[in-house]
Amino acid sequence: MAEQVTILGAGIVGICTALSLLEKGYGVRLVDRDPPAEGASHGNAGVVSPWTCVPQSMPGMWKSLPKWTLDPEGPVAIRWRYLARFLPWAVKFLQAGNVDRLPAIADAMNALNRPNVELYRRHLAGTGHESLLSDSMYVHIFKNPAGADLTQLGWRIRADHDVPMQVVNDGELHEIEPALSPDYKAAVLIKDQARALDPGAIGKALFEKAQSMGATYGQMKVDRITPSQTGGWLLHTDKGEVEAEKLVVAAGAWSARLLAPLGIKLPLEAERGYHIVFQAPDITINNSIMDTEGKFIASSMRAGVRCAGTAEFAGLDAPPDYRRAKVFRRLARNLFPGINVDDGIEWMGTRPSFPDSLPCLGAVPGQENLFSAFGHSHYGFGMAPNTGRIMAELVSGQRPNIDMAPYGIERFQ
Ligand SMILES: Cc1cc2nc3c(=O)[nH]c(=O)nc-3n(C[C@H](O)[C@H](O)[C@H](O)COP(=O)(O)OP(=O)(O)OC[C@H]3O[C@@H](n4cnc5c(N)ncnc54)[C@H](O)[C@@H]3O)c2cc1C
Repeated sequence: MAEQVTILGAGIVGICTALSLLEKGYGVRLVDRDPPAEGASHGNAGVVSPWTCVPQSMPGMWKSLPKWTLDPEGPVAIRWRYLARFLPWAVKFLQAGNVDRLPAIADAMNALNRPNVELYRRHLAGTGHESLLSDSMYVHIFKNPAGADLTQLGWRIRADHDVPMQVVNDGELHEIEPALSPDYKAAVLIKDQARALDPGAIGKALFEKAQSMGATYGQMKVDRITPSQTGGWLLHTDKGEVEAEKLVVAAGAWSARLLAPLGIKLPLEAERGYHIVFQAPDITINNSIMDTEGKFIASSMRAGVRCAGTAEFAGLDAPPDYRRAKVFRRLARNLFPGINVDDGIEWMGTRPSFPDSLPCLGAVPGQENLFSAFGHSHYGFGMAPNTGRIMAELVSGQRPNIDMAPYGIERFQ
């Protein structure tokens, strides 16, 4: 009988890991308290960029933080009751933005993203849902043309990683995105990437593919994990105990909580984001658009125009504050004067964020048959297929063809 692997978490990371393990001949069981692909993997902005290599924390960012956090419509929000618990992570986050650390982080981000469009296309082939991934550019828009300045650090990092970029002026920009307000005068285009027209539906299509390849699924909430007497793991769930020979923890923002009782302390923050979908928008957006001022992404999806963004720090368990999603009504009108924002569906999801924008991937140190695949922060939808491929190699004892040191749990111990 094929060796069995249990994956805790059926978000896009768990699902892609399942597919790659099944391809290697493993038996796979996915466990999640919710139906598949309904966490962060459902409501993200759908950017799938092979070129992502600029982390969240950048030198000098602290200067913008007061402005962002004090503005009730700003891109960063901190619930004041959570401040004391947030500060140690914030310090590590700012340290990760030290200019000396950036090259290694950028290389590691890039290595994880580079094959993502190709891998998604391969996973989606034959599912009947191939068209859910569309060719796209990433259009970073500016009101002041001087902002589209490729000599700035973020763009230089991209240039060092051979990212295909082009600055376009007013006229060209509005040919590419006719619905955009004339207030926007320039853009940097990142070319040759993709966008999801329904990220959750991609997750569900790939989950169904995994099932058709033999994966099983158990809907249950895991309260804790403990080593079993046979060298594997016991999942203590609301439906009883489940035994796992090998266990991959892919539980997104909740993963650190599951590992903490084993003595593994990790700076994994719940970085909550919001979206609103305008269901009858009356406009179409042809690419993923990044509003460089408002720090959010707008994209036409199957259900309408989705505006997504915000980094809210309030802990894992705080209720959503949908004012953060409503903000996108005004911001969307600024971008697209013709948009109809009358009926919007709001959503909140939780990014699993380490200070250095990199996930923890690999064998959990000191724990037999236990693997980590979590912490993909703002980039998990794009990083998921290569994460899956790498996890399947690690579980089967192979050496991935990229340097794994930047993703080690050890970096935080
Ligand atoms: C607003 C927003 C916009 C984003 N935009 C993009 C983007 O454009 N491109 C991009 O690449 N990334 C983007 N991201 C980030 C991306 O969505 C995440 O990094 C990614 O979805 C994380 O996937 P995951 O599988 O690790 O986590 P999740 O999708 O959250 O899945 C984790 C799963 O684990 C389950 N789970 C947790 N604990 C337990 C437990 N105890 N028992 C049972 N089940 C459990 C949960 O129910 C959940 O289904 C965005 C995120 C947000 C919030």
